[in-house]
Amino acid sequence: MDDRLFRDAMGKFATGVTVVTTQDENEIHGMTANAFMSVSLDPKLVVVSIGHKARFLPKVQKSKKFAVNILAADQKKYSMAFAGQLKEEIEIVFDQLAGLPVLPGSLAQVSCEVVAEHVEGDHTLFIGKVLDINVTDGDPLIFYSGKYRELVECEIKTV
Ligand code: FAD
Ligand code: NAD
Repeated sequence: MDDRLFRDAMGKFATGVTVVTTQDENEIHGMTANAFMSVSLDPKLVVVSIGHKARFLPKVQKSKKFAVNILAADQKKYSMAFAGQLKEEIEIVFDQLAGLPVLPGSLAQVSCEVVAEHVEGDHTLFIGKVLDINVTDGDPLIFYSGKYRELVECEIKTV
């Protein structure tokens, strides 16, 4: 099957956008990811899927921890920066949550320790047990059909 067909189909699933972050000693690394999902309420588990070519992969395998930062509508620049799509480097002053670097201004920051890793095809799924959470009000950044979008509230008409 053609890769483009698969990506076009998966792109029809509108998602939010996250930046996953980790820290190895003093070095902070972040990567844009939309393959993120809530897994379990008891215990509280989430999953992120990281491609085998990503430089983020060995870093999270070593640190055994990551934070998921759910981006707000005004954080498109962070999404592009952490996907390597900006020409210029941006300097970010990270906050800390449960010993992990988190992006200020994100709608939710979720710090996790890795409890399982599953290699599936050309990605590895990291199951994270949630250590701590911060939540802020605001509108999310949306990714749909390869483009960034913003939420529009729809009016439901009842007859
Ligand atoms: P690197 O090139 O090492 O880093 C990416 C960029 O982040 C670089 O420009 C780097 O300068 C910057 N950066 C890293 N750390 C810092 C820091 N501390 N301060 C400032 N800048 C920093 N790939 C997946 O595997 N899974 C997904 O779910 C996924 N979802 C995506 C969703 C979207 C909307 C997009 C646009 C891309 C997605 N990708 C996903 C692709 C992935 O984001 C890129 O391939 C990414 O560049 C790979 O990360 P890396 O660690 O190899 O990149
Ligand atoms: P796109 O058309 O490539 O992405 C549409 C959808 O396809 C994504 O939301 C994702 O669900 C899926 N997808 C894309 N690449 C994938 C991959 N390598 N493995 C598994 N699923 C994948 O959108 P775009 O704007 O061209 O994406 C920008 C870049 O980010 C591309 O290089 C793309 O490969 C990468 N990306 C990777 C993933 C991922 O690895 N899970 C997800 C999104 C985007």
